Amino acid sequence: MKWPNETAAELIAFYGNPVLHSSVNAKWERENIVDLVPPYAMRYSWGPPVTKLRLHRKCRDAFGEALLAIKRLYGTQQDIEAHRMHLTGGTLMVRLKRGSTKSWSTHAFGAAIDIDPQRNPFRSKWRPGFIPIEAARAFESCGLIWRGANGDRDPMHFQAVDRR
Ligand SMILES: [Zn+2]
Repeated sequence: MKWPNETAAELIAFYGNPVLHSSVNAKWERENIVDLVPPYAMRYSWGPPVTKLRLHRKCRDAFGEALLAIKRLYGTQQDIEAHRMHLTGGTLMVRLKRGSTKSWSTHAFGAAIDIDPQRNPFRSKWRPGFIPIEAARAFESCGLIWRGANGDRDPMHFQAVDRR
C-alpha cells in the first residue's frame, strides 16, 4: 500500500477529514473507523486491557499484519510481554500533533499506533532499552513507517503515513 504523505491536504484526500468544528466528525468516524482485535493480549500502558484497536479501514490490515508479525517473532505471550510489545498508548485519538497549534496528528486519522510509550518517550532518539529493533523492523516489513528510524524522535510511534 502506498500511504499519503504527511501534509494536511494529502492526509485528508486519502483518509477523509476526521475533524468538524474542532471536534471529531461522527459521520467520518462511522464510515471510516473499524475495529482490530489484536492477535495477542494487549493492554494500555496505564493498565486496562485492549479489547479492540480503532483504526482507519484503509490501514487496519497493515497494523493487523504487523501485530501478527510480532506474534510470530516472539512466539509466546510471555516472550511478547518480556519485550513489552503488549503495551500500547493507543491508536485513534483526535488531537493535534504534539507541539503544533494547527496540524492534526496522524492519530486523528486512525492511522497510527503508539507502542510502550513509557520506555519510548517522545522527543528521544531510539537507543538500546527502547523498543527492540527487530520488533520495529517487523512493523516496517508490513509497510508501516517507524518514527524511531533515522534519528527521528518519536520511537513509540508507527504510522500508515509517509514522511518524504
Ligand atoms: Zn503516536
